[in-house]
Amino acid sequence: MMVKIKCPKCDTEGSFSLVESSYQGPYKCWKCRGLFSIKLEDNELKSCDPLSEEEFERQQEIKALKAKFKQQ
Ligand SMILES: [Zn+2]
Repeated sequence: MMVKIKCPKCDTEGSFSLVESSYQGPYKCWKCRGLFSIKLEDNELKSCDPLSEEEFERQQEIKALKAKFKQQ
């Protein structure tokens, strides 16, 4: 399913595809390229915190690892 996420930095809406109704992890705004750590519950945005590039990369890695783990 697709969820709309409004960037807190530039107010641009981006769509985000969700596998489950909740998500916690990195999000990148397609327009201003702002990096955020977001938390979604029941398809609603609960929190959105700005991330440093370093932290964003780290979260992406964790996400990739988790996906890998699930496949096994
Ligand atoms: Zn933005």
